[in-house]
Amino acid sequence: MNQDVWNAVEQYFDGLLIPADPALDAAVRASEDAGLPSIAVAANQGKLLHLMATMVGARSILEVGTLGGYSTIWLARALPEDGRLVTLEADAKHAAVAEANLATAGLSERVEVRVGRALDTLPQLSGPFDLTFIDADKENNAEYFRWALQLSRPGSVIIVDNVVRAGRVARDDPSDSAAQGVRRLHEFISAEPRVDATALQTVGGKGYDGLTIALVGS
Ligand code: SAM
Repeated sequence: MNQDVWNAVEQYFDGLLIPADPALDAAVRASEDAGLPSIAVAANQGKLLHLMATMVGARSILEVGTLGGYSTIWLARALPEDGRLVTLEADAKHAAVAEANLATAGLSERVEVRVGRALDTLPQLSGPFDLTFIDADKENNAEYFRWALQLSRPGSVIIVDNVVRAGRVARDDPSDSAAQGVRRLHEFISAEPRVDATALQTVGGKGYDGLTIALVGS
């Protein structure tokens, strides 16, 4: 198995299950034109986020790590008219691109982009959020998860992206700060009785990675 096979399979499924979408395509183009890094979730992952938010009947969503708002658009579209999404972004330029992309997608009313380091903006929020998507600097994953849990209710879902680190998560290498951040997160989850979780490895157009899905209990 190699990247060519993963690309072909992803294109096959996406061709059948994920129709072209002018607002999402425009968000990708605008983010590229603005020079943002190409590190948004793939379309099939965005659709997974959308389906999960729909399945839990989310009325309030929290996102940590906005970039150009690509995953934000997928998530916000699962909300009802009076739903709300708060997305946290440290980089003012990324936040400005996201706000423009959300306006193009007709979602500005439902989405608030908060600029600042997430560890500074999280304490300003009041929950509960029905779903949280964590996708920012991996070093602070455990702290973001702690906050997400505090801002959750029983039945809330917390999803964390990029947990595989090209397989390095399985190695305890102190020099790899991102992998260490992911390891600390899973050690925290493992010891937290209010949370039930699983981690999946994924392959596709964006390479080899994975995500963790956690359900908050009482
Ligand atoms: N969720 C986005 C998507 O799929 O479209 C991708 C997010 S990108 C992987 C990570 C984002 O987190 C970047 O825009 C980065 O600027 C932001 N970020 C990094 N450190 C942060 C921090 N401490 N607080 C808030 N945002 C941060």
